[in-house]
Amino acid sequence: MRYAIVSDIHANLEALTAVLETIDAERVDKIVSLGDLVGYYTNPNECLEIIRGRAIESVAGNHDRAASGLKEPTWFSDSAKRGIVWTREHLTAESTQFLATLPLVKLIDQRFLIVHGALHPQPNEDRYLASRTEANRSFGALMRSDSNTNLCFFGHTHRRIAYEYLDGMLSEIADEEVTLNPRAYYLVNPGSVGQSRDGDPRASFLIFDADEAAVRFQRVA
Ligand code: ZN
Repeated sequence: MRYAIVSDIHANLEALTAVLETIDAERVDKIVSLGDLVGYYTNPNECLEIIRGRAIESVAGNHDRAASGLKEPTWFSDSAKRGIVWTREHLTAESTQFLATLPLVKLIDQRFLIVHGALHPQPNEDRYLASRTEANRSFGALMRSDSNTNLCFFGHTHRRIAYEYLDGMLSEIADEEVTLNPRAYYLVNPGSVGQSRDGDPRASFLIFDADEAAVRFQRVA
């Protein structure tokens, strides 16, 4: 079984279209989204139509929850806040409803968890897994969870990374391809489709091959 994992699309229709074209050529079995489908850019309804049309499973990001009115963008940056105000005005009732019903965490095919922000202290869309300390805390939550999996994909930081926890040691893996050790635990971020924040302007996502236990990061112009 091969999965494409996408995150932080942010209503960027051009980026989403380019990424899906590449994913289709990869012949994956399932596409999964880690949230922040909307916010910042200007094609939220069109992007959501694609997501729903292809039955792409997704968790809720902080922008999704703010755009659908589940919470206020109090701690958002000015540009993010402006994006939320604009998005709320332009979302169809159907889109708003869809965003409001997204879960915060999901177990996919009994194989891996997906979350937007972090797994600790409980699965959420707000915390940034951007340090080893934070990663360690989410590893604790992953080990304690009853999901019975050693793998969780997360988004939110817009930076691709794989954290590995093996025999009490945490390491950051920056390789393009990561083979998963069945004895280790993993927290993996595919990077952002719609809004790069790591110096490479291309859209970022990953392919997870469950049979080969391998993760391969990819970029698309
Ligand atoms: Zn985001």
